[in-house]
Amino acid sequence: MFFRVCALRLRTSATSLLCSSVGFQQFFSPLLHNATTITTMSSKVAVVTGGNKGIGKAIVQALCKEFRGDVYLTARDEGRGKEATASLSAEGLKVNFHQLDINDINSITQAADFFKQKYGGLDVLVNNAGIAFKVADTAPFSQQAEVTLKTNYFATRDMLTHFLPLIKAGGRVVNVSSFVSVRSLNMCSQELQKRFRSDDISEDELTELMTRFVELAKKDQHKQGGWPETAYGVSKIGVTTLSMIHARRLSKERPNDQILVNACCPGWVRTDMAGPKAPKSPEEGAVTPVFLATLPAGASQPHGKFVSDKTVQTW
Ligand code: NDP
Repeated sequence: MFFRVCALRLRTSATSLLCSSVGFQQFFSPLLHNATTITTMSSKVAVVTGGNKGIGKAIVQALCKEFRGDVYLTARDEGRGKEATASLSAEGLKVNFHQLDINDINSITQAADFFKQKYGGLDVLVNNAGIAFKVADTAPFSQQAEVTLKTNYFATRDMLTHFLPLIKAGGRVVNVSSFVSVRSLNMCSQELQKRFRSDDISEDELTELMTRFVELAKKDQHKQGGWPETAYGVSKIGVTTLSMIHARRLSKERPNDQILVNACCPGWVRTDMAGPKAPKSPEEGAVTPVFLATLPAGASQPHGKFVSDKTVQTW
């Protein structure tokens, strides 16, 4: 009898312990979940496109060391992206991966939703992804114009359309352009130069001009239309001018948010794009983009500029 009472008491206290621990979980786990979400929401986050190799990977690497927050390497190909992420992790860096093909609008919106859900937005966006035909490529100029503008201008613009509204106060947006944009601008007709340099050019007007270049290139009439013989150069004129348009718009629409948007040139860098003879290493190429991505809180300049070697250049 004595043993049965003891056993009953033991079972009762074990059950009440279990019940109370279940109660604890039921009561506290939503709180813990909310606390985790709040912590993630308040964490800073930086995102780099085309991060699987070249300058993009070096930008991710430097941000992992210099940026206080979560860093996302993104790439269009999951395999190449995860391989790059693993190689940076092997260096002891804490890096995250998300798939992002800037030519695929679904991929852009899915990534944008992910960062909105998980972090409530973004603190740093580096639009680095880009393409260039090799000088020796025999593809007709019309094709080079269409393909190059598609990624470098139109897809970068799609990225900004979906990501710019997510940039948090104090955020930094860096669009990797090129010194070739300045050279190509100077080769445009006076009329085009005036528009690209004007303070009142709108995103729609710029997009119409980029579209017109592609249409003229298809008819081999781009030179008569006042455009230079470089699809890459024109695409980067688009990237630089678009950065300036967005900077002006943000200053007007979100004047108190202190978001800084700039275009930059990484320099001539040894990558698959530029070849082995370029003077700068990818790490050196990352210096100016990372400088702009990590401009200190409270900074008001540079904003809406084209920056090379950490210095504002004449546009
Ligand atoms: P790389 O060719 O080495 O790397 C380009 C990166 O962009 C790759 O990760 C590539 O991915 C990615 N990419 C291309 N298309 C897409 C897409 N649709 N979606 C997502 N990612 C994409 O070039 P660099 O590192 O040299 O160039 C990086 C940036 O710097 C470019 O914008 C380039 O124009 C610019 N730049 C480079 C200079 C240089 O000297 N290297 C000089 C001036 C500017 P994948 O591997 O899948 O192809």
